[in-house]
Amino acid sequence: MIIVLRPDATQKQIDHITEKVKKLGLKPWVSKGVERTIIGVIGEEDVLRIQPLEVFAGVEKVMPILTPYKLVSRDFKKDDTKINIGSGVKVGGKKIVVMAGPCSVEDEKLLITIAKKVKAAGATVLRGGAFKPRTSPYSFQGLGEKGLKYLARAKKETGLLIVTELMDTRDIKLVEKYADIIQVGARNMQNFNLLKTVGKSKKPVLLKRGMSSTVRELLMSAEYILSEGNFNVMLCERGIRTFEDYTRFTLDINAVPSIKSLSHLPVIVDPSHATGRWGLVGPASKAAVAAGCDGLLIEVHSSPEDAFSDGSQSLIPENFSALMRELRKIALAVDRKI
Ligand code: PEP
Ligand code: MN
Repeated sequence: MIIVLRPDATQKQIDHITEKVKKLGLKPWVSKGVERTIIGVIGEEDVLRIQPLEVFAGVEKVMPILTPYKLVSRDFKKDDTKINIGSGVKVGGKKIVVMAGPCSVEDEKLLITIAKKVKAAGATVLRGGAFKPRTSPYSFQGLGEKGLKYLARAKKETGLLIVTELMDTRDIKLVEKYADIIQVGARNMQNFNLLKTVGKSKKPVLLKRGMSSTVRELLMSAEYILSEGNFNVMLCERGIRTFEDYTRFTLDINAVPSIKSLSHLPVIVDPSHATGRWGLVGPASKAAVAAGCDGLLIEVHSSPEDAFSDGSQSLIPENFSALMRELRKIALAVDRKI
């Protein structure tokens, strides 16, 4: 349920309503928009039959939210969410934020070399997994804390912010210490304990769409995070399973404007996992920018043939740099910046 307040509602009136909502055993979430303040009411709404909220001073109207997701919906918050990820960088504004780096953190020197190159090309965030969700238990599983320390060194050397994956709730404190953005991988999109754990964190979260999940399921997973109090969530389209097997997954470009219309949260596109082929990363990135994404997550490796994971979809720094130049033109055409 949404309580839409009158434009002249006072703070005292807002506090009075939220107190009342809490007394009824419901959770109020206040969203201050440009024009209006809205209070989202979460919980068993039946009690509101005994206590109608329309009668409170400052209330204009009370509306049900018809979607199963509440806090992530556009009904709850009309304007786009802008997430401050650190160093003055915002995701969800006019600037499209590019996150780039290797699939896995492998070696400190190599990571710093790649970091410097992606930074020079215009990336603002360095990606790299220290905990890797691999299909085979015999594949490289990531360097763990050692990898996180390498990321910290790369951050110190370049000023790039860090996005890295959290796979296990027990590692939250460790990952929080090093990450500016905590990534929840596609395979963990419905790991509800992990979602609740990152929901209690103060760090921004990059939530990747499960490869066999619908947009609605992605939004429901995001709802888990927001309902724990963390509103700094980015949703990532990274390709879904279809019958097509020329590409690793199928980039669901429809998901970008669909999510933007259903939710106020920023949308990131990962063209690397979506295609699985480095030669398609450029065209997929351009399509994503044209479709209105707020950020890109791109795998870059200076020696893809030696990469511990996902070399076939990794761009060499020179190609990444050339792509960034082309993306700037596309961004300009849709009134954005890179
Ligand atoms: C990744 O970004 O490194 C990754 C494993 O992606 P996904 O969870 O989308 O497969
Ligand atoms: Mn990868």
